[in-house]
Amino acid sequence: MTNTSVWRPMAQNIEFDALESNVNAVIAVADTVRTTLGPKGLDKLLIDQAMNRHVSNDGVTILLSLKTIHPVARMVVEIAERQEQLVGDGTTTAVVMAAEMVKEGKRLIKELGVHPTKVVEGIESGVYYACELLEKAAKKISIDDVELEHVVNTSLASKLDGKRLASIVISAIRAVGNNASYNGSYDFDKSIKIVRRMNMDDKVISGLILERGRLDKDIPLEVKNARILICKLDLKPVKESWLKENSRYEDILTMEKDRVTKAKEIVDAMLATGANVILIASPEIDDVVENLLISRRVFAAIISTDEIEHVARYTNAKPARFMDDLKLPDILGYADRVYEDEDNNIIYIENGKNKNIVTIIVSGTTKETSLERWRAVRDGVNAAEAALNKGVVVGGGAAELHVIDKMKSLKLKGLEQVGIDVVAAALESIMRQILTNAGFNGLEKVMTAKALQDTFGIDINTGEPIDMMEIGVLDPLLVKTTALKAAGEIAKAVLRIDRNLAADDLSQQALSESKR
Ligand code: ADP
Ligand code: MG
Repeated sequence: MTNTSVWRPMAQNIEFDALESNVNAVIAVADTVRTTLGPKGLDKLLIDQAMNRHVSNDGVTILLSLKTIHPVARMVVEIAERQEQLVGDGTTTAVVMAAEMVKEGKRLIKELGVHPTKVVEGIESGVYYACELLEKAAKKISIDDVELEHVVNTSLASKLDGKRLASIVISAIRAVGNNASYNGSYDFDKSIKIVRRMNMDDKVISGLILERGRLDKDIPLEVKNARILICKLDLKPVKESWLKENSRYEDILTMEKDRVTKAKEIVDAMLATGANVILIASPEIDDVVENLLISRRVFAAIISTDEIEHVARYTNAKPARFMDDLKLPDILGYADRVYEDEDNNIIYIENGKNKNIVTIIVSGTTKETSLERWRAVRDGVNAAEAALNKGVVVGGGAAELHVIDKMKSLKLKGLEQVGIDVVAAALESIMRQILTNAGFNGLEKVMTAKALQDTFGIDINTGEPIDMMEIGVLDPLLVKTTALKAAGEIAKAVLRIDRNLAADDLSQQALSESKR
């Protein structure tokens, strides 16, 4: 492999081949997920390298499982992944729109001879106007509104068991309520924990759970009026490594004595705080400390570093790092009850002093179903958060479709008009795909819907016009605008690559290397 092959100049027609190949890669990625879009979308069976089965309807999960080597395909997957991280939903929408944009962009470049940079700039302004118009069409909602239920139901409509999971999500959200609002915007990551457990029922618990048992079976199973100490102290003050290979017997004895004395000091100091529950996040625990805690019959368990933050926020405990911290008056946290469910190896912390955390337990009979249901619940919570923070628009592709005419009536000139055509193609594609997946002639239905009023779309069961607002098919505005921006980003990058001579060679190189 030499650099000369990368930089070899290419003939004009080969440049177009690069565009062709890159556009095809985006379309191919979109084709793997487009049939999952919407409530009538189908699932995919994924088989990983270890031959494990996963069934999924989740755009990003499917995309991440693809072993594509085409660099452009990888880029699409990465952008979809970012969409997932930003808003937690709308990945399929983003990828389907991206495919439409590159297809239309390529047509403009190849058939009409528009310069790629013009198309790219046009897409940028088209996305900008479309987002602005969607924002104008959005409706603000609050936690008690029926629209919250609608938006969660819509987001879970295409998921296995979606109705049931939606009702769990809604009850969790209403249980934390305005406690999850920080400076006027909701952050459910801080107040709703979602855990998946096989062989347990789905439920919403007011409180936190720790997915493990207590330190020893001899300590009590339950503590009422829990006074909780989060311990990050050094619980192994005397290290065995201090002993030298040729240490004398007396030295060992001294060290052992020292170890017991220090352990007693620590345990006494911890108990002197009045704590009756000790949650240990120290990296190591000396056996002597552990045995002393057990013999004093205090409820003790290990917690992970991630859990500290949640427990601290929930109970008001301040993690103790140094022995002196134990003397602070507000070091302890409080909860009505701490107990272990021995059958399931779970510790519950109920009704903490700051009553603002709930845990959703998501069940599943197999690992795959529990994982898929867990993802669905997370999508639902994310959709609700986005809807409460930025408002909602009608779903089923209707909000996107009705933006098109408004964009056209802005009477933009020149290159901006070019962008509008590209973005319009993408905006139209969502309703078309949802209806195609529902067994209708998507194109024909979109034509019908275009003439309808703003909140109207097509009923996926009957194929007839219907008011989406009225039947409660609503999407978070943020999911739509983020998906549109993500699609625009993919399209702009791909259409620009047409001018990048190295890119084609690099992908060829990747292909031939992977074949070796
Ligand atoms: P994504 O990965 O993009 O979130 P989904 O498979 O979750 O894809 O589908 C989301 C789309 O399905 C949204 O456009 C939403 O409005 C639409 N949708 C959900 N329920 C309905 C419904 N009952 N009728 C029409 N469209 C619906
Ligand atoms: Mg979705």
